[in-house]
Amino acid sequence: MKKKRKRYKIRIERLAFSFSVISMLILLVLNGAISIFSSSKGKVNDTTLLVKSKQSFVVCIDPGHGAYDRGTESASGVFEKDIVLKVGLKVGQILENNNIKVVYTRKDDETILGSDDREDLKKRVQISHDNKADVFVSIHCNSYKDASIKGIELWCDEPNTKDELLAKDIQNELYKLKYTEKRNIKYQSNSPLYVLKNNDAISALVEIGYLTNKDDSKFITSKDGQAKCAEAIAKAILSFKESIKK
Ligand SMILES: [Zn+2]
Repeated sequence: MKKKRKRYKIRIERLAFSFSVISMLILLVLNGAISIFSSSKGKVNDTTLLVKSKQSFVVCIDPGHGAYDRGTESASGVFEKDIVLKVGLKVGQILENNNIKVVYTRKDDETILGSDDREDLKKRVQISHDNKADVFVSIHCNSYKDASIKGIELWCDEPNTKDELLAKDIQNELYKLKYTEKRNIKYQSNSPLYVLKNNDAISALVEIGYLTNKDDSKFITSKDGQAKCAEAIAKAILSFKESIKK
């Protein structure tokens, strides 16, 4: 009996000790949490807001054509679909590095978005809508029967719109690279383009140059040229995002 009582006493003491250790730990944790919260409450909230606002801007990158649809072709046999995919993926990568949420209408050459041209374009717009994109940029290369025609051509919905502002930003950044000329902005209201006409996002279509022109083609088929075009387009989208915030 005596032994039992002693053991019992030891157990009680151990329990009491454990309890006090646990209570102290709980108090320490609570105290720490409270002091972090009270000393940098603003900071914690600011960070949360920052992350939230950065993630809420969505850009849809649309590398034109793909799979069976090769688009136009350079004299050396490079397809538009391959150039715009490389440029598009690079644009997206830069934007992602800047905390922008990016969605792509295609990320490879296998994806077949539709059984025909119309279906394909419909799917591209659907991807933009499903992801609630704020900005949609379709990337293409131009061609013309007259090989002397060159330049950066931008398409948007209508004059004096945010779409036109985005188109101008992209054109100006590309023009800074000095590889070609600047062409007039074209409006889809005069000559409908499905991906712009049916898009809820602020949208623009960029023709980075003419594959039928020797000089344009040399630049846009080169790895360096494609990287520079991608940087310029991404830079334009980032500055456009800032300008519409004001
Ligand atoms: Zn095209």
